[in-house]
Amino acid sequence: MSDKEKRIAIIGAGLGGLTLARVLQQAGFDPVIYERESSRTYRSQGGTLDLATDSGQKALQVAGLLEEFQSICRYEGQAMKLTDKTGKLLFGSAAEEGPGEDDRPEIDRTLLRNMLLDSLHPSSVRWGYKLLQALRLENGQHDLQFENGQIETVDLVVAADGAFSKIRPLLSNADAEYSGVSMIELNVLDAATQFPDLFAFNGTGSMFALDDHKAIVAQVNGDGRIRVYLGFEVDRDWIDVNGIPYENLEKAKCEMLKFFEDWDEDLKNYIRYANGEVFPRRIYMLPVPHKWESKSGVTLIGDAAHLMSPFAGAGANLAMLDAAELGLSIINNDDLFQAIKEYELKMFEYAGDTAITTKRFMKLFFSDNAAETFGEMMSSNFAEV
Ligand SMILES: Cc1cc2nc3c(=O)[nH]c(=O)nc-3n(C[C@H](O)[C@H](O)[C@H](O)COP(=O)(O)OP(=O)(O)OC[C@H]3O[C@@H](n4cnc5c(N)ncnc54)[C@H](O)[C@@H]3O)c2cc1C
Repeated sequence: MSDKEKRIAIIGAGLGGLTLARVLQQAGFDPVIYERESSRTYRSQGGTLDLATDSGQKALQVAGLLEEFQSICRYEGQAMKLTDKTGKLLFGSAAEEGPGEDDRPEIDRTLLRNMLLDSLHPSSVRWGYKLLQALRLENGQHDLQFENGQIETVDLVVAADGAFSKIRPLLSNADAEYSGVSMIELNVLDAATQFPDLFAFNGTGSMFALDDHKAIVAQVNGDGRIRVYLGFEVDRDWIDVNGIPYENLEKAKCEMLKFFEDWDEDLKNYIRYANGEVFPRRIYMLPVPHKWESKSGVTLIGDAAHLMSPFAGAGANLAMLDAAELGLSIINNDDLFQAIKEYELKMFEYAGDTAITTKRFMKLFFSDNAAETFGEMMSSNFAEV
């Protein structure tokens, strides 16, 4: 059997799984993606992502999709400002108008996912296939058992199934653990029209306000909303016991404002003006670094391999880079096991470095004098993170 005929299963149609399928299909392989959700519109995909030249954009280049991305991404979304709780500006960078060196243009996750989905052969994704477990067979193949009763036997299973991967236990004893940070997501819909004062304060990109071991992070999305994340350094059960009635927007806003009582009025407007859904989120991470001994027939990419907090904007970028690296390694190696080993060796290095940086960023965001320290760091252009 040639490698191209070998059965490759990718678990999860997130950004990692889809990028890998696209890279392999371009080279004549025929991987199948198994996704637990019933369709691409089953749930909203969340906020905006900035793709870096050396990771997310590099992966799109390998996938032959960089030009399409460049035609739909938002360069103006790179504008950024940073304040403390008084609203004092500690760093600001202007909007970019087009591609530049080391740029990080923004794109809504739904748009990016749809671009990847539309680039695949129509039958590539099996929707409604929730993996229950993967069993290793004596010959090195794996039996995949799905909730819908189907069983598939494959030569290689790639876990792209995110934070709570069902495949990870085949390779590692590590679990995703609570990071010590929880966030409440708010949405200010139709912000430019309905709340021009807030939109003017925010600018066309991201706004970070850091103080008192708390954060307000706000990002303009492509659909005109400002998505807002309130960040708190708190115990794991805080989300359940903080007294915020998430399903009752007006009452929830009153409760949330209490946590920011002495913050600047412009900053409090991110809460006052919220007019969309509220989502509480615990932030999880894998141990840093996270490595395992390679085994034939199975590997991990993206959050399944190196789940990290969102504070360096790296997770989606890395998931896509992993996909490109693994895809190229499979294409360039006659032996699938050799391909896995080469990919994992490379990935452990770059993902390990990024996980360390991300952990430092998270600590910094919730440290004393966070805004000043972050501002100095930004001003020196990330020289010493
Ligand atoms: C609030 C927040 C903001 C973020 N912001 C950024 C950012 O700005 N930039 C950035 O780079 N990253 C960001 N991230 C991180 C980023 O979202 C993730 O790192 C990225 O989505 C990981 O991609 P993935 O393909 O590995 O997994 P996912 O995107 O989690 O995809 C996993 C897929 O697998 C499916 N699946 C799960 N279990 C099963 C199963 N048992 N069977 C079948 N299918 C299954 C899921 O339904 C899903 O479709 C953020 C994360 C959060 C929480």
